[in-house]
Amino acid sequence: MEEVEAEAIPVAKEPPRIHRLDQSVVNRIAAGEVIQRPVSAVKELVENSLDAHSTSINVVVKDGGLKLIQVSDDGHGIRYEDLPILCERHTTSKLSEFEDLQSIKSMGFRGEALASMTYVGHVTVTTITAGQLHGYRVSYRDGVMEHEPKACAAVKGTQIMIENLFYNMTARRKTLQNSADDYPKIVDLLSRFAIHHINVNFSCRKHGAARADVHTVATSSRLDAIRSVFGVSVARNLMKIEAADDDVSSSVFEMDGFISNSNYIAKKTTMVLFINDRLVECTALKRAIEIVYAATLPKASKPFIYMSIVLPSEHVDVNIHPTKREVSLLNQEAIIEKIQSAFESKLRNSNEERTFQEQTMEPSSSGPKDTSKDSHCGPKLSGSRSQKVPVHKIVRTDSQDPAGRLHAYLQVKPQSHLGKESDLTVVRSSVRQRRNPKETADLTSIQELVSEIEGNSHSGLQDIIKYCTYIGMADDVFALLQHNTHLYLVNVVNLSKELMYQQVLCRFAHFNAIQISNPVPLKELIMLALKEEDLDQQCDENDDLKEKIAEMNMELLKQKSEMLNEYFSLSIDLDGNLSRLPVILDQYTPDMDRVPEFILCLGNDIDWENEKSCFQGISAALANFYALHPPTLPNPSGDNFQFYKKRRSSRNPQDEGNSSNSLVDDVVIEEEIDHELLVEAENAWAQREWSIQHVLFPAVRLFFKAPTSMATDGTFVQVASLEKLYKIFERC
Ligand code: ADP
Ligand code: MG
Repeated sequence: MEEVEAEAIPVAKEPPRIHRLDQSVVNRIAAGEVIQRPVSAVKELVENSLDAHSTSINVVVKDGGLKLIQVSDDGHGIRYEDLPILCERHTTSKLSEFEDLQSIKSMGFRGEALASMTYVGHVTVTTITAGQLHGYRVSYRDGVMEHEPKACAAVKGTQIMIENLFYNMTARRKTLQNSADDYPKIVDLLSRFAIHHINVNFSCRKHGAARADVHTVATSSRLDAIRSVFGVSVARNLMKIEAADDDVSSSVFEMDGFISNSNYIAKKTTMVLFINDRLVECTALKRAIEIVYAATLPKASKPFIYMSIVLPSEHVDVNIHPTKREVSLLNQEAIIEKIQSAFESKLRNSNEERTFQEQTMEPSSSGPKDTSKDSHCGPKLSGSRSQKVPVHKIVRTDSQDPAGRLHAYLQVKPQSHLGKESDLTVVRSSVRQRRNPKETADLTSIQELVSEIEGNSHSGLQDIIKYCTYIGMADDVFALLQHNTHLYLVNVVNLSKELMYQQVLCRFAHFNAIQISNPVPLKELIMLALKEEDLDQQCDENDDLKEKIAEMNMELLKQKSEMLNEYFSLSIDLDGNLSRLPVILDQYTPDMDRVPEFILCLGNDIDWENEKSCFQGISAALANFYALHPPTLPNPSGDNFQFYKKRRSSRNPQDEGNSSNSLVDDVVIEEEIDHELLVEAENAWAQREWSIQHVLFPAVRLFFKAPTSMATDGTFVQVASLEKLYKIFERC
């Protein structure tokens, strides 16, 4: 026994020797990090030219930069006596002390770029300084000169040429050769520099090409620069934006830029961001701005943003990324928030400047009286469903039954207007009809409902919601939020329902639409819903009665269709088919399994007599429909995994005729997992969780007015102690 144990202990291997890497290996590894691809070399070279106070920078590229990158400028040039160390690592004219970094104005400071290029390519420098009769040309390999600098004729400035980039990095070269070449990236880079440094002439062309792909001449107008680089169609849809803060306790910055308005249509966000004149990326800021656009302007339109932010240089850490692509800012969150609200008010104001179609309020009592309400004697049909549906009562009693698979034939196509010229007019008119919060005030009833929300908001909750961090879902219904040092559980169903309700009122009469590609007959939807209710309430009305109820509800909704369409973008055609739903939150489509229940609720539960309660009822029904309920299929990662085991029963032949055996005994249950259903459920739950994190909470932070009731009705629960927290996790 002891022997066995002794054998099980692995024989300790001798530790490997540690040795110092050869300097050339170190340099080549470091070089690969600084010069990741051709475009990163171009960026370094152009930044050097800008640091040399050039007024003209010309780039020539061959074979996506792998064969040749050549950057010529008219800057101050390089001294003859500096040429021997020019391409050594950590040689620079821009920094002496580490402390200088705090106030650095130049783009370079590490003295690594040129050195790196000589480790992964062949570099030749031609340069002349002011007052000299001739220039010098010299080539470098692995940080050192290959020969003494040769005198040559030269025009003002410096020209740096890199040939055969990555000639000694086979893997990198291969990957780059296989992927699309870097030329478009280089053009994009130069375009970005060109719209910021408007006092510099830029050009970028392919080697041997007669025409430059970027060509700008110095101008005093930023908008002109944008027009010449990105085109008229971009420039004419831009608005100027500015924001600033000078409060040392929160943030100190100045921002100005040009941002697209609601007429601008693009598939992708273009964000050109300069922080203290450095071209950088900031994902958090980009995301924050996209959220404002998504919430304010049409779905299809991703923004164009040029933005320059200036901060005290000691507030910016420029030394956090090997290619200096990112910087870190003091008080980044406060700055982002200020910028976000500047965008929000700019976009809202621009919406207000538009002209909107005139509204005429249809007197709500003009329609015939709702007779369906008391015409049936069945149980009260309610639009709201209990949140936790016991597994055995789930609509999908039979997975073949379309009741649970509505989306299979309800193919929802969000309005898409990308690309096609002919669609543009449709887009424009839909853009023109965008919501305008002030417009809704035309109707007193809506005005009253909105001010009820505003008058009823809880400042404590409001603060939590605005500044919280979403941690994750604690169970099917509660999300865990952190606010300062406190943890809160928030009921996402209640929260999303209230947010949707507020958004319906806010967007009243100005919704974008979700087109349903195959319009669905209302009657069929109502029948489905009535059958569901039967399952829930174990009550069996006969089918004739159901048909009658469905018929009457459909007729009623048809009569209300004009109003539903105009104010809520809910379209019902002449044949009684549902063909359009409103967009209540951009980027979000509701769970189509809930359409039948929603339609039934519209038909049954709305008070059509009174304008205010009618709008309130429809808004609440929509809110309940769009809320982020747990998906119909039970959560496969919870206790409900059993649900996904197919039960096939077969009689045990031995027990045949033996009536005393209980049913359980004489049936063999074979269990097998229904993979298709499981995948569907996993997708539905993952999709919901994504929406909660990326749509619900960002929108809540921006728009939500937290009602006082939520402080006490269990929607927000402070997790007071860790002990309690564990209990919650035990449940999931
Ligand atoms: P850094 O820019 O971090 O200083 P680089 O390796 O990019 O490091 O450049 C090293 C030095 O070479 C710079 O500090 C600068 O003095 C000089 N230099 C590079 N490119 C140019 C240029 N186009 N014009 C003038 N000087 C240049
Ligand atoms: Mg540099």
